[in-house]
Amino acid sequence: MLDHLSFSSPEPKVIAGAKADWELVIGLEVHAQVASKSKLFSGASTAFGAEPNSNVAFVDAAMPGMLPVINEFCVAQAVKTGLGLKAEINLRSAFDRKNYFYPDLPQGYQISQLYHPIVGEGEVIVDMGPGIARRVRIERIHLEQDAGKSIHDMDPNMSFVDLNRTGVALMEIVSRPDIRGPEEAAAYVGKLRQIMRYLGTCDGNMQNGNLRADVNVSVCKPGDYERFIETGDHSVLGTRCEIKNMNSLRFIQAAIEYEARRQIAIIEDGGTIVQETRLYDPDKGETRSMRSKEEAHDYRYFPCPDLLPLEIEQAWVDDIEASMPELPDAKKARFVKDMGLPEYDAGVLTAEVESADYFEEVARGRDGKMAANWVINELFGRLNKEGLGVATSPVSAAQLGGVIDLIGRGEISGKIAKDLFEILWSEGGDPAQIVEARGMKQVTDMAAIEAAVDEIIAANPAQVEKAKANPKLAGWFVGQVLKATGGKANPAAVNQIVAQKLGL
Ligand code: ADP
Ligand code: MG
Repeated sequence: MLDHLSFSSPEPKVIAGAKADWELVIGLEVHAQVASKSKLFSGASTAFGAEPNSNVAFVDAAMPGMLPVINEFCVAQAVKTGLGLKAEINLRSAFDRKNYFYPDLPQGYQISQLYHPIVGEGEVIVDMGPGIARRVRIERIHLEQDAGKSIHDMDPNMSFVDLNRTGVALMEIVSRPDIRGPEEAAAYVGKLRQIMRYLGTCDGNMQNGNLRADVNVSVCKPGDYERFIETGDHSVLGTRCEIKNMNSLRFIQAAIEYEARRQIAIIEDGGTIVQETRLYDPDKGETRSMRSKEEAHDYRYFPCPDLLPLEIEQAWVDDIEASMPELPDAKKARFVKDMGLPEYDAGVLTAEVESADYFEEVARGRDGKMAANWVINELFGRLNKEGLGVATSPVSAAQLGGVIDLIGRGEISGKIAKDLFEILWSEGGDPAQIVEARGMKQVTDMAAIEAAVDEIIAANPAQVEKAKANPKLAGWFVGQVLKATGGKANPAAVNQIVAQKLGL
């Protein structure tokens, strides 16, 4: 739950078929590569982009007689992820062999956890707009090995295999079918990614395939899903199809949309949906059948005889829990509650932990809302334009804080502050020193402002008459004075003196 925020559930997406309205039911199996230096059962490196087959231990290559040894750090990462999803941690879990033949799988089986996963039931709160969120239940997270990579496009006559990825640790995060639309599915993956990046348990790089999802989609009539929730009976839901290996949030949405409409058309035509595995073709924007249930692999799972059941201690889990950072929901709620930020701003600032840290440094001892405006509008606006991230920002949090202090003390106006930001961006330096050295200080000297006001009034008698008749026109004088002083006159003082001189 969002610690200090309550929310209501978004409406499920409804698709109008030719004959009836349909709702979507979606469940995701997300494969997240564990952020670790070495593999799940060997000491080989997990570095991305290494020379093919250079990060392969004897165990990974399945040399005869080699035995897997569990990597404690990978286990800790899975536990940490489970705690981040408010999930039950199973102190006893076990590894199974999932048998299948494929050239990129030298063992002939993948070591996974079918019967006793390390993490049990949890939940993810998926934000869908201010005050609106979907609670998605997590069924389980299990640890397993990744397979290698077959390369078919390097030679017309040969295929190649790169085993660098073989044996790298994956967390498979299985959701309940609680996701009710394409946008929610993308937001769910985005939220998982955010939480794991906060935790440092998965880098979430979807382009490199470090986070990918199998997307299960079915359609049902309005009311069916509620009946499923009440009774727990899966059979009231429609038959699902599984779209394999999606590594783009945009494609996940497009694939779900296409798949739902395909299923609706079949059902309304009097056909039935066959449970099958499908692939999404981004060029065509379609899903197509990969294999049907009859052709489904029979994995002949059995307990892996090379590994003892994995037993961990509650005290160890407690230590991991004690080392956890503040997570996005809690941080966002704190920004709303303690700093008075709108939920939207708090969401933007907590999207990445680096942004949140930067903001907190700017806001420390200053007005939170003002700090948020500067970070979101000026800093993020500028960073986005240049394709930079907070970590590589030319303007530091201390410098931006300095700008805000100068505004707060009335030394510079908001307009000059933007010029100052530009100078800091391109030249760097100390904000207060720059203001001093370049004469950017706001004129709060009443005599100087008065002189400027007198001058404008004397030069514009017709405008004076108009303003006396319609006090709203006094703003014109204020504008002129600000212009004449190069934006340095204190606007509040100018307002006051103009009104006084015009006798308003
Ligand atoms: P299996 O036992 O065949 O692996 P599961 O019940 O474990 O199937 O479900 C696998 C995934 O499919 C889960 O993420 C689950 O939420 C999702 N799922 C199950 N039933 C449906 C359905 N009717 N529509 C959409 N997704 C579903
Ligand atoms: Mg299952």
